[in-house]
Amino acid sequence: MSELMNVDKALELILAAMPDIGTENLSIAQLHGRVLSDDIIADVNLPPFPNSSMDGFAVRAADVITAATDHPVSLAVTQDIPAGQAPDKPVRSGEAARIMTGAPMPDGADAIIPVENTDAKWREGDPAPAHVQIYSTVQPGDYVRPGGESVAIGQTILKAGAVLRAADVGMLASLGRASVSVNRRPRVVVLGSGDELVEPGAVLAPGQIYDSNSYMLAALVEETGAVAVRLPTARDTLDSLRATFQQAVAEQPDMIISSAGVSVGAADFTRQVLAELGEVGFWRINLRPGKPLAFGKVQNIPFFGLPGNPVSAMVTYDVLVRPALLAMARQADDAQYITAIAGENIKSDGRRSYLRITLLQENGQWVAHTTGTQSSGALMSMVTADALMIVPEDVTHVEAGTPMRVKLLKTPT
Ligand code: AMP
Ligand code: MG
Repeated sequence: MSELMNVDKALELILAAMPDIGTENLSIAQLHGRVLSDDIIADVNLPPFPNSSMDGFAVRAADVITAATDHPVSLAVTQDIPAGQAPDKPVRSGEAARIMTGAPMPDGADAIIPVENTDAKWREGDPAPAHVQIYSTVQPGDYVRPGGESVAIGQTILKAGAVLRAADVGMLASLGRASVSVNRRPRVVVLGSGDELVEPGAVLAPGQIYDSNSYMLAALVEETGAVAVRLPTARDTLDSLRATFQQAVAEQPDMIISSAGVSVGAADFTRQVLAELGEVGFWRINLRPGKPLAFGKVQNIPFFGLPGNPVSAMVTYDVLVRPALLAMARQADDAQYITAIAGENIKSDGRRSYLRITLLQENGQWVAHTTGTQSSGALMSMVTADALMIVPEDVTHVEAGTPMRVKLLKTPT
């Protein structure tokens, strides 16, 4: 029996085989959730000019030092500055400009008197009054948003690799970017095989089960930020398998992921088809669940043949395929790990094991309990799991109370 391949070694070989799939320019409307390919440096100030943060009157603060409700200061209103217009003259001593929120400050003025602190009425469409009574004092700079307050020219706004959120998209629009270069999203064909598999919704004949892997793997691919293309399940015949793999290649994807057909008994047709179409090695990895794995290239497209058991397929995806897809998309791995105390004695078989666990907070510590059966066919263990507990290689017994490294599947509550 050949030696089992170390998980980290396998990942190293896989990452080294991933091509760079490059970047694309996308319009501002398509950027949400995409990954920046380059740093974004501001080439304008934001706001681009000093402007008013209130509807009111732009004044010289020194003119209104004595203003009070029972002792207003009267100023001549010499111009009106609606949003979207530039001032046409400076404000001199004894003068004011009516100004709208966001409109540029006129030269000479250094503060805004909000309309509430004047005798002016502010109704849409009313012309500016000839004079305004000011009821309050202001400090220079009050209600003025300085140019460059939010962003200064030359500032790094976002770093390459950032996943663009709503605020980021808004910022790129504020900078005037109509399109931005982002990392291409890998397109991934997902397929499966097995005579026992039928589509959800069909009536099961004795011995049949529903195909869960292809839907699950397509969802995992999408969670990773890639685009999934799911193919119909192949039958366990050479012709059907070959046709399905040819269909996968015809999609010209960046990666092909299959499930099933890699375990010893099942691999014959799969091996034959993969040997015809590319260079694929069958690996036995020191990993539980998920020892058997096929990896290589099918007509130069990176290919993973994952185990058929749904939990094995999920765990091998998480440990080996997800990092590969992230590398292809030049995206940082944001997986979260915490330390949790083993809540029970745990046996392991010496392979690196990813046990399905739930997390409970007890006395300020996270305590991990396994989710019942750890059978690699029992997908319910992944449904209930909060996290995967990583039991290292060569450990066969974990004593209750031992702190363990745990990879989160969801935010624990
Ligand atoms: P195999 O690698 O074909 O021997 O499959 C191993 C186990 O995984 C068997 O119990 C299969 O029924 C199961 N299996 C394979 N493919 C799927 C699938 N797409 N959905 C659910 N179970 C599957
Ligand atoms: Mg099968």
